[in-house]
Amino acid sequence: MGSRIDMHSEQLFKAQPSPALLARRLKLGTYREEPDGLHRLCCRCNEYWPADTEFFYYAKKKGDGLHSWCKACYEEWRYPNGRPSYRQYQPSQE
Ligand SMILES: [Zn+2]
Repeated sequence: MGSRIDMHSEQLFKAQPSPALLARRLKLGTYREEPDGLHRLCCRCNEYWPADTEFFYYAKKKGDGLHSWCKACYEEWRYPNGRPSYRQYQPSQE
């Protein structure tokens, strides 16, 4: 089929900034060119992660299509005590 981007698909989505946005972000340091591709600065933990949906959530309204926080930061903020579904799987006997 075509290569249309669908946020519900399991397909990996890579950041798609316009050339102007890319140039601006590289200058600002929020993007970084790496041998394996474009990396993106998470503005919460200040770490660089590959600029795709494996590390960042998809955010349609953002310039490049990705959330400005990495997934780990977002989850930490959203679920400060861990995801409820994760905790259920942990045996509570110690
Ligand atoms: Zn982060």
